[in-house]
Amino acid sequence: MELKQMGTNDSTRRLSAHLLELKLHLMHLKRLGLYGLKKGGLSGVRSSLGECHRCELAQTRRNIVFGNGNPRARVVLVGEAPGAEEDRTGIAFVGAAGKLLTRMLAAIGLDRDDVYICNVLKCRPPNNRDPLPEEVAVCSPFLKAQLETIHPDLVLTLGAYAARTLLGREGALSRLRGRRLQYSGMKLIATYHPSYLLRNPGAKAEAWKDLKLVAGELDRRKMT
Ligand code: SF4
Repeated sequence: MELKQMGTNDSTRRLSAHLLELKLHLMHLKRLGLYGLKKGGLSGVRSSLGECHRCELAQTRRNIVFGNGNPRARVVLVGEAPGAEEDRTGIAFVGAAGKLLTRMLAAIGLDRDDVYICNVLKCRPPNNRDPLPEEVAVCSPFLKAQLETIHPDLVLTLGAYAARTLLGREGALSRLRGRRLQYSGMKLIATYHPSYLLRNPGAKAEAWKDLKLVAGELDRRKMT
């Protein structure tokens, strides 16, 4: 009887802790202006971001690179942060890496207009340095709101930062890529960033395997 009572108390404590966690999360989303945005669509998320100065990258960016593509895409691609060309134009994945990405998509029968493309950070880090944890913490809720709004079948992360941010895990990309994972009810496949592939063409064969996983997943969903 006592054991049963202890079990009930434990469950109640766990439930209270989860509810508190949820409440804090909702308060955080409200503070960012991201609560209840689904009805406003992507433009609602963009409005909430505004002329963002939430981190120091606002001092050095030329343009916020929010993301572009099909707002009803079945596949969303997530990179790390804008580079020089993206910062100049305000468009995600232009320049040499963007061209390679376009070819990678074409290899599995996708056009850039079929997908939505964005990054973890919406502003360029100076000299393309790695994102800082505090920048990821403050900017990634907007990425997550974009994904919740589009709710694609599949998220393809490009590079380690995007995979780690969405999966909430540390670790080398080599341990995350090459398999089907889950993010918030969506399939997630991790692969290399096209910039990495430009510097390391030897990794293209592995990236091709990841793309075949993407194609297989999309085919499987077409049939169900
Ligand atoms: S990187 Fe994100 S959080 Fe930082 S200023 Fe740009 S939009 Fe705001």
